[in-house]
Amino acid sequence: MFIMKVNSVFSKPQRIHPLFYIRIVLLLLTGILLLSCSASENSKSPALSKKPIQAETDVFAMDTFITLKAYGPDADTLLESAKDRIAALEKLLSVTDSDSDIWKLNHANGQSTTVGEDTAAIIRGAIEISTLTDGALDISVYPLVSAWGFTTGSYQIPTEDTIQSLLPYVNYKKIVLDALCVTLPYGMQIDLGAAAKGYTGDVIAALLREGGISSAMLNLGGNVHTIGTKQDGSPWKIAIANPFTPQTNLLTLDITNEVVITSGNYERYFTDENGKRYCHIIDSKTGYPADHGIVSMTIVGDNGLTCDALSTALYVMGAEKAIEVWQETGGFEMIFVTEDKTIYLTEGLSDRYTNISNLPLIILS
Ligand code: ADP
Ligand code: MG
Repeated sequence: MFIMKVNSVFSKPQRIHPLFYIRIVLLLLTGILLLSCSASENSKSPALSKKPIQAETDVFAMDTFITLKAYGPDADTLLESAKDRIAALEKLLSVTDSDSDIWKLNHANGQSTTVGEDTAAIIRGAIEISTLTDGALDISVYPLVSAWGFTTGSYQIPTEDTIQSLLPYVNYKKIVLDALCVTLPYGMQIDLGAAAKGYTGDVIAALLREGGISSAMLNLGGNVHTIGTKQDGSPWKIAIANPFTPQTNLLTLDITNEVVITSGNYERYFTDENGKRYCHIIDSKTGYPADHGIVSMTIVGDNGLTCDALSTALYVMGAEKAIEVWQETGGFEMIFVTEDKTIYLTEGLSDRYTNISNLPLIILS
């Protein structure tokens, strides 16, 4: 159309007002400008070719509702890759899938098994936290987790005999890890449930960061990983559930680039006829659900695997020992809630929390 009009203009020059030619020149200049703009978009100028976009996706994996939210170039493609990675890790770490590394280990009858790098990394990280917490975290507690029915959902109180017969098989010190080669003594079995989601969050966060994402929130059911800040530059507001009424929140935290991981007695548990609650975190020393006065333990730090393992371990240990570990080790912050309905929060969080419950809060220093 445009060319046609120019042609018709040239066919009758004498009738055209000079202003018309100026308009034509201006139109041509605009066209050239537009073309050069779109050319520079295609030439991968970072500012123009990769517009910041928001993407969000949900996935059910590892027995958990997972929500991934990311802002930045290629966010949608990266979240699809993240979902694939989660599915692959779930397959590798499942206790019930006969193709998984964990299944192979648990059915090796004392023989050595070669596992994938992810599996080895989680086992290595878990053993470090077991050492730090005197075995409060022990991935070899699996036969007991299973005897209580927490792996299948067919909950039951095992007999004292059953518990005593299984306890000798719980001892993380007997797990031999040599690079990718793992050996469990005959009869021992492991489960990475206490740290697998934390590790998965780390892997996904790394994948997104490498892909150029500078703002994201990954929620793996009570395990939250953040990248950077919110889009407006303010910290992420991460809510911690009230363990007494989990549909409401206890407090919120301002979080930037950190991981917030909670273990509690309010998500996976069953009650007996007297209303006594049995939760899925097992005290590896007694074989019974952990019962040291804590109902919720949250760890804030940089590394998901460590924070996840610590949240389980310090839940088992109880307030006094958890505080000792925090004071002696450092490198993380914690919030825990006791049975007597008090919140304890370490001083590194003291200027970035809002207590939205009516429970009293004590700051630990
Ligand atoms: P969640 O899975 O709800 O995030 P945790 O991270 O605390 O909770 O992990 C609890 C899971 O870890 C249990 O379901 C069980 O599979 C396993 N587990 C239970 N007790 C222990 C323990 N003392 N040490 C290691 N793993 C445990
Ligand atoms: Mg944990």
